[in-house]
Amino acid sequence: MFGYTAFRGEQQAIVEHVALGGDALVLMPTGGGKSLCYQIPALLRSGVGIVVSPLIALMQDQVDALRQLGVKTAFLNSSMTADAAREVQGRLLRGEFDLLYVAPERLLMPSFLSLLEQVQEDSGLALFAIDEAHCVSQWGHDFRPEYRALTVLHERFPTVPRIALTATADTPTRGEIVERLALEQARQFVSSFDRPNIRYRVTQKNNARLQLQSFLEAEHPNDAGIVYCLSRKKVEEAAGWLKEQGWDALPYHAGLDSATRSANQNRFLREEGVVMVATVAFGMGIDKPNVRFVAHLDLPKSMEGYYQETGRAGRDGLPANAWLAYGLGDVVSMRQMIDSGDAPEERKRLERQKLDALLGYCESTACRHQTVLRYFGEEHPGNCSECDNCLEPVDTWDATQAAQMALSCVYRTGQRFGAGHLSDVLIGKATERVEKFNHQRLSTFGIGKELSAAQWSSVYRQLVASGLLESDIEAYGGLKLTEAARPILRGEQSVWLRRDADPIKRKVQRAERTAKAREPFAGANDDHLWLALKAKRMELAREQGVPPYVIFHDSTLLEILNHRPATLEEMAQVSGVGQAKLARYGDAFLGVLRDVAH
Ligand code: ADP
Repeated sequence: MFGYTAFRGEQQAIVEHVALGGDALVLMPTGGGKSLCYQIPALLRSGVGIVVSPLIALMQDQVDALRQLGVKTAFLNSSMTADAAREVQGRLLRGEFDLLYVAPERLLMPSFLSLLEQVQEDSGLALFAIDEAHCVSQWGHDFRPEYRALTVLHERFPTVPRIALTATADTPTRGEIVERLALEQARQFVSSFDRPNIRYRVTQKNNARLQLQSFLEAEHPNDAGIVYCLSRKKVEEAAGWLKEQGWDALPYHAGLDSATRSANQNRFLREEGVVMVATVAFGMGIDKPNVRFVAHLDLPKSMEGYYQETGRAGRDGLPANAWLAYGLGDVVSMRQMIDSGDAPEERKRLERQKLDALLGYCESTACRHQTVLRYFGEEHPGNCSECDNCLEPVDTWDATQAAQMALSCVYRTGQRFGAGHLSDVLIGKATERVEKFNHQRLSTFGIGKELSAAQWSSVYRQLVASGLLESDIEAYGGLKLTEAARPILRGEQSVWLRRDADPIKRKVQRAERTAKAREPFAGANDDHLWLALKAKRMELAREQGVPPYVIFHDSTLLEILNHRPATLEEMAQVSGVGQAKLARYGDAFLGVLRDVAH
């Protein structure tokens, strides 16, 4: 039915366990293949599988994709008319479905629960799947109060197996899911949270827009991706600017009216090569498989946020890029945002810690996969050899003396100036501002001539990131010393910093990486056949009003391109070509192969 040749990771164990009637809690990263874990048991067991999902906007696409495979399915949520809902309920009672997607508020209606009891008696309930199970957690940002009432499923239908699924990795949330959904008896299946196909990269910001532009030009000229910004205003600006540069860019944030938001989301899902510029309001439940990159123009708030946002890339398992541009200004403004917010002090302290963990990641010289996983308490076996730090190992240098100069310059200038001015003083540049404050008279004036302005800026960024300096809101973000700076100034502690990559060397490496990044699609974008296959897919998708990936994923299309099946039997061997799709589309794609070959 699905056309896959093998299970992935824990899928088989989960399917067997649930198919035999066991309860399960499944923790698997995005793109890990959670859906199969309830879809197959639902098909194997008699009766209908009920899938609880908060993602109303996605239900249509999920149902469309399953129908393509020949699964009898529908959804029930508040977006449909009373008549349409009645029709679905009638078919449910007649036992016509393999799977039914239901929004939690609908499921919990007393009338619907009675209906389910009737269904259980007549044709049977195969299972309950509780998708996005972390929505029971009050601490996450996806909290849905109705999720807490889902224990009713266990109470009223004790013999029906339940499988709860989430891509949220942290242990407190896991505990809350078990407790809130009464899953104490459920077997837990915890996968590795590594996303091996995501290539992480952190770039030091100098001109973020140009840096983004050259990243997109070099590595993603035709790809769909997401660019995250911190504020609505920045989203609008960046989207406008990218559009001017010729990119098919759209904005998405909570300030847009819902019609525009859903129109933009639809274009992103249904068309190819749309770049969505968005705040974090965009993303939950975006299961477009071929998002090829996620770029951050601003810092995310935490490692959890970063992991989740970058996790939206590469669900199909093909290589994808997670690109982040970051500079001193970001650290300063993120810290200020936390300090000036009106959260209680305890919450602020937690937010500061989370930001510091993220900054530690940005400045880390170790393999990015290792750093990400370690944060979630998992060890990564060896280096990934694909992230920026693995590809271009970072030099570190003993910066104790430079740090002392930088810190004492902060002190001598009265702890109220920004890094630009401080660098000028250190280099001995007599700017107007330097003269205005008489800083050319200071003992630190001109003592740092050995380093360039760019190097001093790197030093300051790292001193702030590691908490030796902080920005002072009252002094408009000027830098001041923290307690941690004292031992350094007293010469009791040494400081090692990373040496930011040399821009010229980086250019050469970038060209090499560009070639590597496009490997799976190597030559594909210039290949007639590839374009013809994609055009056929788009034509079929348009006819049915579904996203192209619902017909075939890129990975399936690539396999067709590379193996060039000549018969339906050969086509059936391609991963992702199940029986129903073979019957519906086999000939159409064989036709494309034949036409282009001639
Ligand atoms: P999740 O819900 O965990 O993010 P999905 O269930 O959407 O992941 O699956 C991610 C992708 O992997 C989908 O494109 C799916 O079709 C594909 N997939 C899942 N299981 C397999 C498998 N055993 N073999 C090949 N592809 C698979």
